[in-house]
Amino acid sequence: QKKVWAKLVNEKTVTKDGHHVELAANIGTPNDIEGVLNNGAEGVGLYRTEFIYMGRNDLPTEEEQFTAYKKVVEAMEGKPVVIRTLDIGGDKELPYLDLPKELNPFLGFRAIRLCLEKDDMFRTQLRALLRASAYGNLKIMFPMIATIDEFRQGKQILEEERASLEKQGVETNKDMEIGIMVEIPSTAVLADQFAKEVDFFSIGTNDLIQYTMAADRMNEKVSYLYQPYNPAILRLVKMVIDASHREGKWTGMCGEMAGDEVAIPLLLGLGLDEFSMSATSVLPARTQLANLTRVEAEKIALKALTMNTSEEVQELVKQSFF
Ligand code: PEP
Ligand code: MG
Repeated sequence: QKKVWAKLVNEKTVTKDGHHVELAANIGTPNDIEGVLNNGAEGVGLYRTEFIYMGRNDLPTEEEQFTAYKKVVEAMEGKPVVIRTLDIGGDKELPYLDLPKELNPFLGFRAIRLCLEKDDMFRTQLRALLRASAYGNLKIMFPMIATIDEFRQGKQILEEERASLEKQGVETNKDMEIGIMVEIPSTAVLADQFAKEVDFFSIGTNDLIQYTMAADRMNEKVSYLYQPYNPAILRLVKMVIDASHREGKWTGMCGEMAGDEVAIPLLLGLGLDEFSMSATSVLPARTQLANLTRVEAEKIALKALTMNTSEEVQELVKQSFF
């Protein structure tokens, strides 16, 4: 099995009927890039920047961040690198920010909500990202977007920082794509409207599932409700992908579901453009996709959307593809 995978390290990801999708990897630090390249990922679909802010007593400087982001985009040699702005709060805390304890941290003051308010901290990160964009194929992604207004505000601040850098003669990539994570149901539902303004979507199923099913992703008592194959989730995923394609944009997925072997045929069938997963899942996924046809996957995925339960969907996929 390992041998079959190894042969595909330098190959593109192509289905049996010649359809190309992109397999990318999720990373947390620049040190993860070695694994990304060794496993033949075609890009970085999610760089979680939280780790730069964690395990220390103060905020990282613009220079520290610039160094980290530049290292990643340079090491990827022109391949796409999607860098997510700070997603702190919820399950990830930063003691030095002195944030008040909340009753429902997953529904609270976190991620883009916090960044838009602590706008100094956000501007520092955006400047570092803008500067790094001159060194490779960097794309910026905002987490936990719930309203169009949040996206517009984030983009506005980004453009202000770009203008200020340019005034100082600092180069940035003017064609850099700016996208959002779709991990809150309101955003999936309004995807057609978001698609007119964003450059891409990346579906964060880890959170999208917990918010759609109202089941805490950390609570074992309700883990039976954490259902990636529930037709409700699949329909939301389809809405997002279709909305992006109608506007000529692309949709990726960077939650755990993207690397799941039962989900992969469904996601291919729903038209997902980019799958981002842990680096070690890339070659198994490429092998699996090489043995699927998109035509068949589409037929099964459309059927899955009409089913009632997660179990029925799993059964359908297993009987069709395994
Ligand atoms: C997600 O919510 O699916 C995601 C990729 O983000 P995180 O796991 O960091 O919340
Ligand atoms: Mg998330």
